[in-house]
Amino acid sequence: MEIKRNPTRSVQIGSIVIGNGHPIAVQSMTATHTQDVAATVEQVNELHQAGADLVRIAVDSQKDADALVSIRKHTSANLSVDLQENYRLAMTVAPHVDKIRYNPGHLYHHERTRPWQDKVKFLAELTGEHGSAMRIGVNCGSVDPEKLGQFDPEDSISPMLVSALEHCDLLDSLGFYRYCVSLKDSDPGKVVDVNRRFAEQRPDVPLHLGVTEAGLPPDAVIKTRIAFEQLVGRGVGDTIRVSLTVPNSRKFEEIEAGRQILKDIDAGRVRSVVDFKIDRLNIIACPSCSRVENDAFIDLAQQVKEMTKYATSHAITIAVMGCRVNGPGETDDADLGLWCGPKYVNLKRGTTTVGAFPYDEILDQLKQQLDQLITGTTTGST
Ligand code: SF4
Repeated sequence: MEIKRNPTRSVQIGSIVIGNGHPIAVQSMTATHTQDVAATVEQVNELHQAGADLVRIAVDSQKDADALVSIRKHTSANLSVDLQENYRLAMTVAPHVDKIRYNPGHLYHHERTRPWQDKVKFLAELTGEHGSAMRIGVNCGSVDPEKLGQFDPEDSISPMLVSALEHCDLLDSLGFYRYCVSLKDSDPGKVVDVNRRFAEQRPDVPLHLGVTEAGLPPDAVIKTRIAFEQLVGRGVGDTIRVSLTVPNSRKFEEIEAGRQILKDIDAGRVRSVVDFKIDRLNIIACPSCSRVENDAFIDLAQQVKEMTKYATSHAITIAVMGCRVNGPGETDDADLGLWCGPKYVNLKRGTTTVGAFPYDEILDQLKQQLDQLITGTTTGST
């Protein structure tokens, strides 16, 4: 199938180039603890061998940043780091990585009096100096709070879009063009909508596509495929990640799934009509990363899927998140949300916290809440 790609500019990331008609790069992210250098190097190299064009690693602390410097010495993979709140860690990692991802919604937490524009300038100067690329990574669960206040709460797309466009304008005004953008949501329909709207306004900026918290395979692969067919099939997208909630030993499946989806789209093996309206039980789960504080999270995501099978015909969304960094925000839009801490799992019903429960009690508590939602009752909340 001949697909006319958007005329994006080319952005070099280590040994690869994205945009401007270059092959769509397939990437993944490590889920080992970044400070466990041996385990992280092993996973980076496994992903690299599986064909990952780029591997991302989360860096949240100075110790993570120091570990990243060691990891770099043991792999030839193109490396990206994921910075959330502590943007200053870029000082340690920038000389050692090929790309830095920052999240506009998380630039507010550290040094609250320093304008976000100064922080972006700081990042652009550092990455420019070291010849690396950047990604403006906008995520539905952590949108810039200023932008959220400007739109109807029902409109979750516009704040993401405006935030991304604003950051592009700033980087352009600084003369920094070596960047791409991502706009991720757990709803494939919204991923399609927001990326199409962005591509219409900035057809020159390369896009990194992904459905966040897609969950467990095979459903997660299907959700992601649906979104990618609609975007890549229309020439939108320069790099992709398929996020899967799988144990560390199976992380390579993200690369296999990504390559297969691209191959199928290229061969025209796509569904002609896609209905995004999810009218049955929808379980979303984060793909896990080094921020997971209890490895029981992966098993829990699987157990939630098994336990809730009896409710398949009900249009209820359950979110299962691995950590406190993104868990509290990203469960807000679900009917029932779980986010995992080291010893307890926090249970939410919409934005309301029901309680924090040990790992061996959480499934019973979740079932109680699920049954109440199904029967339309609210009594019995703990
Ligand atoms: S919710 Fe936390 S553990 Fe899960 S992918 Fe996001 S940052 Fe990582």
